[in-house]
Amino acid sequence: MARTTDIKLLTDRYIFQTYRRYPLVLTRAKGSWVWDEKGKKYLDFFSGIAVSGIGHNMPQVNTAIRRQVGQMLHSSNYYYTEPAARLAEMLCKRSFAGRVFFCSSGTEANEAAIKLARRYGDKKGRYEIIVFENAFHGRTLGALSATPQPKFRDHFGPLLPGFPVARFNDLNSVARLINEKTAAVMLEPVQGEGGLHAATPAFLRGLRQLADQHQLLLMFDEVQCGLGRTGRLFAYESLGVAPDVMTLAKGLGGGLPIGAMMARDELGNVLGAGDHGSTFGANPVACSAALAVLKILTPAFLRNVNRDAEKLHRELKELFGQSPLVKDIRGLGYMIGIELKQPALDFVHACRQQGLLINCTQNTVLRFLPPLALNAAEKRFALKVLRQVLSTQHF
Ligand code: PLP
Repeated sequence: MARTTDIKLLTDRYIFQTYRRYPLVLTRAKGSWVWDEKGKKYLDFFSGIAVSGIGHNMPQVNTAIRRQVGQMLHSSNYYYTEPAARLAEMLCKRSFAGRVFFCSSGTEANEAAIKLARRYGDKKGRYEIIVFENAFHGRTLGALSATPQPKFRDHFGPLLPGFPVARFNDLNSVARLINEKTAAVMLEPVQGEGGLHAATPAFLRGLRQLADQHQLLLMFDEVQCGLGRTGRLFAYESLGVAPDVMTLAKGLGGGLPIGAMMARDELGNVLGAGDHGSTFGANPVACSAALAVLKILTPAFLRNVNRDAEKLHRELKELFGQSPLVKDIRGLGYMIGIELKQPALDFVHACRQQGLLINCTQNTVLRFLPPLALNAAEKRFALKVLRQVLSTQHF
């Protein structure tokens, strides 16, 4: 293997520096753990930004991938393939949806949702999509237009018009923005990048009512919070309100790139032949991996996630609750944010040095996205590192 310094030098020299990387070269991953090139292991308490929720390199997923690799890597969407057909059926049978569009990432799934909403509103001249402060929907220009955070969008204008911004968990702020041009309301049921804020069930019920009353599409971005993170297969189930449209990516492929835009069956003919597409969408290998992921996420598995996540919340509250460093502890299921009263990056670095990978968002919020199958020993290790770092932080 190339020397560590070479890997870092090549990366820093030849790859656009759009990410601030931690000084860590990873070579191997299994279950909840990843290894660096020196053989040191780390508990991935961030699950590769919610991609490897079911665990890294899961044997069932790898077996499904290997089987499909032996048969066909790619076919194009001009032909039928079994993995895509079976995955679409499984996604629909386990959700509110009746139709799926496949792509390769979260931002693309949201582009598809935005186009669906525009097409839905087209005949009546409705094109506005109400979005929310602190939302994050992706980096392509449509999704970015739906992401009203200056740090992501400044210097890339002009963006798409038609994305009025409401306040999260404030129903009146949404009602005030609805007019004859409104086609949809789009939100993350649990804002991830925006600082781990969960929508309240009452807020979502209110949105559902407004959407029904004005014939708007209620669109949930579950790219980060979906697929078991909140202790149900989808966050909308944890919060008790079904959307009309939902987007998925990250955890869906168990590590392979795949995204999906799903919609109620009645919306199935809003997009027709030629209206949208994606060359790599419905890739048979990615779809085979996703089928294996969904088979792991059984109701029994999800019940354990729900139970264990509630316990972890309590334990984190005990650990962090009394600290003068901490402003708030929040989240839903295994999407947990601990807001500090100071920048959180030093805390992240200190955890990494002790073998625990976490991240921070919005500068001051520690973000934990633990592996969904976190076992007792792994949890003890995480709490031990967090306790140590907390006790040695100066403020
Ligand atoms: N939507 C949400 C809620 C996300 O958290 C992300 C990524 O972090 C995206 C969309 C964009 O996904 P991707 O990076 O796969 O394009």
